[in-house]
Amino acid sequence: MSYLARTLTFVLFSIFLLAGCSNNESAPAEASAEEETQQPILIQGPMPIEAENFAERLENVEEEQSGTFVFYKGTVDDYPVIVMKTGKGMENTAAATALAIEKFTPAAIINQGTSGGHDPELNVFDIVLGERTVNLGSLKTGSREEGEGIAPTEWIPMDLMASEGSAGEDPDAENIRYFEGDKGLLEAAKAVKETHKEGKVVEGTIGSADVWNNEVDRIQWFHENFGSSVEEMEGAAGAQIAKAYDTPYLGIRILSNNKTNGGEYNPETAASNQDYVYEVVKEYIQNK
Ligand code: SAH
Repeated sequence: MSYLARTLTFVLFSIFLLAGCSNNESAPAEASAEEETQQPILIQGPMPIEAENFAERLENVEEEQSGTFVFYKGTVDDYPVIVMKTGKGMENTAAATALAIEKFTPAAIINQGTSGGHDPELNVFDIVLGERTVNLGSLKTGSREEGEGIAPTEWIPMDLMASEGSAGEDPDAENIRYFEGDKGLLEAAKAVKETHKEGKVVEGTIGSADVWNNEVDRIQWFHENFGSSVEEMEGAAGAQIAKAYDTPYLGIRILSNNKTNGGEYNPETAASNQDYVYEVVKEYIQNK
């Protein structure tokens, strides 16, 4: 065979092989491309009891860890869902949220778990959908000299996002900063309210800080001045970071305790909330 003939044969054979390959693989290649364009839904839970029940319900799960944060990457109804165990508190939640947004570009984030009641009308096993979330630790104290004591009921709210100037000097910073819950997530959550049989589901305000308040007068002060329905230690931190990245976000919190009406702490509420959030996620996926 001449050099030209050999080259031609080789080229034709290569084209034939390539065509064969792309034909054979075209169907699965398209399916995985579609999966890749589906942005996952992220479900955050602080403690093992607040994340692992949901993680167990995922299909095709792969576990990934970064620092102390654990990601359970799987699917619900063939849609990508990532459950993340953030650890407790504002710092863990803020860091985990930023990390997850950078890593996975989620379509939406649900921050869920237990909480303590600020509203005496709410009982253990009732669920609050966070129409708003607020940081109950962003406060400025009154001005008092040595020996004048401390007066927490005189403390005023402080908005750390009001300006880039001094929050201590700027009068514009003396406001309560509320983070709005995402409308689409809220609609999905409202649509499946009836699936939660152990208590009622209401819209309300979730207050967060690295504090566990057990003083009923202080709880009432937050309830009256900030409109808080419940308190926990994560929601507002995640909301602030989700807002920074313009990512839809909703807090969903079950009452595990309510000091204002004698509701004793019950850890079984954590699993019940995850059951409800699972229904919310299915509803959200269906409407997407
Ligand atoms: N180490 C603490 C318990 C912390 S548990 C202690 O022994 O007292 C706190 C977790 O439960 C947080 O993730 C928070 O979001 C949630 N939580 C439930 N009820 C709460 C309440 N009344 N106040 C603050 N956080 C509460």
